Amino acid sequence: MPADSGQLVRLDAPATAHESRKPLFGLDAESLAALLTELNEPAWRGGQLAEAMYRQWITEIDAISTLAMHLRRRLTEAGWEVGRPRIAQVFRSTDGTERYLVECQNRNSGPAGAAETVETVWMPDGDGGEAGDENEARSEESSKSWSRATICVSSQIGCAVNCQFCLTARLGLQRNLTAGEIAGQVVAVMARHAVEVGRDRLNLVFMGMGEPFLNYASFMAAVRLLVREVGLSPRRMTVSTSGIVPGIEQFAKEPPELRPKLAISLNAPNDAIRGEVMPINRKWPIQSILEAVRQIQLRPRERITFEYVLLAGVTDRPEHAQEVARLVRRANFPAKVNLIAWNPGPGIPYSMPAPEAIETFKAALAAEGVPVYLRQPRGRDIYAACGQLKRTVEGS
Ligand code: SF4
Repeated sequence: MPADSGQLVRLDAPATAHESRKPLFGLDAESLAALLTELNEPAWRGGQLAEAMYRQWITEIDAISTLAMHLRRRLTEAGWEVGRPRIAQVFRSTDGTERYLVECQNRNSGPAGAAETVETVWMPDGDGGEAGDENEARSEESSKSWSRATICVSSQIGCAVNCQFCLTARLGLQRNLTAGEIAGQVVAVMARHAVEVGRDRLNLVFMGMGEPFLNYASFMAAVRLLVREVGLSPRRMTVSTSGIVPGIEQFAKEPPELRPKLAISLNAPNDAIRGEVMPINRKWPIQSILEAVRQIQLRPRERITFEYVLLAGVTDRPEHAQEVARLVRRANFPAKVNLIAWNPGPGIPYSMPAPEAIETFKAALAAEGVPVYLRQPRGRDIYAACGQLKRTVEGS
């Protein structure tokens, strides 16, 4: 793989025209078994299909050699395809981060077969945001160039939440992704980097484009696929919400063996500033979010993360750090704060915080006994950093 920085790499030929084929990717083993039963085939063949798509990462029905030829033909003739989202373009950063435009098949709107893209980011060696989490002991030596990695996953095309510092907000909401499109981003990136399930330390963060809790059913269906079919651990997954209270309440009812960790995108020390930076706060203010979070039964050593974007002069003052410390203490659940120095984006009216302001803010929280980490900006040169995902080819 060439080590060129910030360059656009076009992968293989464009996708062939698909008319309106139905994707198998996204169906769990049970649904696949039901489908095969409908086709008068034994239900256990559903397990073979699931194994082929989710464990062996096969992308063409024809290539699933465990299925008899006649069955592959029947599935194809009935309009089915594997239909996993594919990486259409790659932007590579000098720091090893890769931002992908992942092509989804738009089946809900527009001309049949029109492709839509969503953004996914690969961060080898993470961004520091996982520091201090449970299960972070080093695994055995690996021959790979990365010892751990994080995939940042999108849940919607665009976003309706309108956070003022975020480029994705400028798109508005275009549509929700399906479970297959959400899980498919992960599997496509895992296949590209030959991730070994159960061996490599892979973290998933649902912090890409969109608000996962405004596409709750598909988001959780994707998590179930990734846990049950792909074999990933929910303890290595973190979902970030801007504070959609009904979504948090629903999330609190998920079984622990399927529930990712939770991050609250806080970004301001109080309701007045948060209401300016994140207008959604006017609907669900900070206290209502904290009350909803308290309903979650945390696992041993699990902590809630508060993500906090530092905006120069707006959210990065020393008095803001004191307020955040008080807020975390009063939250009354195990928590940590991830600081993120705001990443600049065209047309966004904020400035990056000064390095001294970041250090002072971090030290003030630490002095108050709040566990605090600074997330390293990743892939700024390719618009892959937090708040920069916009489904564009800027930075190419
Ligand atoms: S920060 Fe997240 S929730 Fe807010 S507008 Fe951007 S994508 Fe949406």
